[in-house]
Amino acid sequence: MHGASSKLSSRSWLRVYRLTGLITSIAVILSIIITNSIMGTFAQGINVQGLLVAIITPLALGGPSVAIVVIRQEQLRQANLQLQKLATYDFLTDCLNRGAFAARVDSWLAGTGAGGTGTLLMIDADNFKAINDLYGHDIGDVALTVIARSIRSILREGDLIGRMGGEEFGVFLPGTGQGQAELTAERIRAAVNRARFAPAGEQRHLSVSIGGATFACGANFAELFRIADQRLYCAKNAGRNMAAVAPLSPEPVATLRRSA
Ligand code: GH3
Ligand code: MG
Ligand code: MG
Repeated sequence: MHGASSKLSSRSWLRVYRLTGLITSIAVILSIIITNSIMGTFAQGINVQGLLVAIITPLALGGPSVAIVVIRQEQLRQANLQLQKLATYDFLTDCLNRGAFAARVDSWLAGTGAGGTGTLLMIDADNFKAINDLYGHDIGDVALTVIARSIRSILREGDLIGRMGGEEFGVFLPGTGQGQAELTAERIRAAVNRARFAPAGEQRHLSVSIGGATFACGANFAELFRIADQRLYCAKNAGRNMAAVAPLSPEPVATLRRSA
């Protein structure tokens, strides 16, 4: 193991010290007991030499070996956590990646069954290619983090945000019906639009278009995604910087919103 992954956090070091101390102490106690029972060391009073051998041997041999094994175990544990994070979160924006987002929404939907209520929003940055073309890819990356942060600032505990790829984000609002979803989508749109983003010292207003699908009696992710994507397309066609949220059934009727 190399680089950052082999560096242990202070918490890991604490675990190393505790475990090494505990196992070594047990080894010392066992060593004293075994030495005593084999040699009858303490039968004729305390034999200092025997006692020292019984203590020093496990300390000198066992202590370092235990420490090496425990350190290695902590390094592996830390590396596993890092791998798990890399497999779940988008590196740039720290949102869930597409796979993890879909899996979590699916598992929420499966958990609530046919009675669940909620909303899926698909959020796409407007004219994002122009930002890259004007300021370069690195500044484009900064804009993506600003958008992710603005979206997150509106969400409640328990809502999910994922980066679906490129300049597109997904938001899942468990338990949120049509009216509240429209308000939340509008608040997200407005938060992105007023976020501070000043490449070359000049404020530039970012904007997103939002499509949403609400459901009131269960749904599956693929169907929600399809309807939310359709609504997103409507919002783009209607001029961008808008939110269009529709119920999943019976017949989707979108409401376009953009506050002045
Ligand atoms: P629209 O309003 O229709 O969505 O226009 P748009 O320019 O946002 O859409 P388009 O699909 O033409 O371009 C998306 C751009 O997003 C192109 C691509 O280079 C950029 N992009 C995708 N992923 C990233 C990324 O991770 N970083 C940066 N900087 N740009 C990205
Ligand atoms: Mg776009
Ligand atoms: Mg796009």
